[in-house]
Amino acid sequence: MKAGMIGLGAMGLGMARNLAKAGYLTAVYNRTTAKTAEFKVPAFDLPEALAAEVDIVLICVSADQDVLDIVEAITKTIKPGSIVVDMSTISSETAKKAAVCLAEKRVAFLDAPVSGGVEGAKNGTLAMMVGGDADALGKARPVLEAMTRRIIHMGKTGSGQATKAVNQVMCAGINQAVTEALAFGEAQGLAMDKVIDVISGGASGNWFLQHRGVTMTQGTFAPGFKLALHHKDLKICQTIAAQTGVSIPLADMTVTDYEELMAEGYGDEDISALYRMKKQ
Ligand code: NAP
Repeated sequence: MKAGMIGLGAMGLGMARNLAKAGYLTAVYNRTTAKTAEFKVPAFDLPEALAAEVDIVLICVSADQDVLDIVEAITKTIKPGSIVVDMSTISSETAKKAAVCLAEKRVAFLDAPVSGGVEGAKNGTLAMMVGGDADALGKARPVLEAMTRRIIHMGKTGSGQATKAVNQVMCAGINQAVTEALAFGEAQGLAMDKVIDVISGGASGNWFLQHRGVTMTQGTFAPGFKLALHHKDLKICQTIAAQTGVSIPLADMTVTDYEELMAEGYGDEDISALYRMKKQ
């Protein structure tokens, strides 16, 4: 199966490298063309040029409108029977729109957001939650397995993104808890490397503490996961919460905090930049 990757950002780059290693990658596209230079496969200057040449189009771009723009472009050229897998984090509604648009061309669409950070993308250990047709997932699975450790079919189109929204609410709470607790530890004058080491091995240990604890206490906030992207996800979660009548106060608080940090120019930093506020 010939795979083409659209979007070589923090996540897409690691994914594409793993696809190349597994022998599936036959084409790449990135808006900023310099990022395609390392790949030995053809780099196309338009998404529609890539889509004409592959059996499976993989997308990992920033936000809803970016995905819709790409889907609109590739519908001009994509072959019937192809599969489009979107691994960006967007709303379920947008995923459904993309699926309808591609179905008119007899192309299957899977919403397949991922969790596991840039480390997971690099190491091919992402968790992937998939919405859409089970047969299409069956066909795409060998390709997706080159980037993931776990793939779960959640149900119909949009259910992958609905699951990812759950992950993003949890991620907000974890960010609040870890940044607050570490700032609390630092205020007591503790050796923070030892605090992180010992707590990581106990019941409060978690991925975020292990991967971002040391860097945040050293005042380094290189992404990672851009704070502005998590803010975009939490706005989606707030819409779902309003529609379902559920309250998500930790996510609401995180949106407010991120907006303050974004206003101060920290939107492109990792989400652990929340530590800046907790330390104050
Ligand atoms: P990123 O580093 O900012 O990269 C974004 C990518 O999207 C770049 O390749 C960018 O192209 C491309 N792009 C943005 N708008 C575009 C448009 N209109 N047309 C074409 N290309 C466009 O972001 P990322 O961290 O890789 O995240 C990508 C997606 O994965 C997001 O939806 C994010 O929420 C999700 N995600 C991120 C993480 C994480 O830890 N970083 C984890 C799970 C999921 P340029 O290079 O030209 O800017």
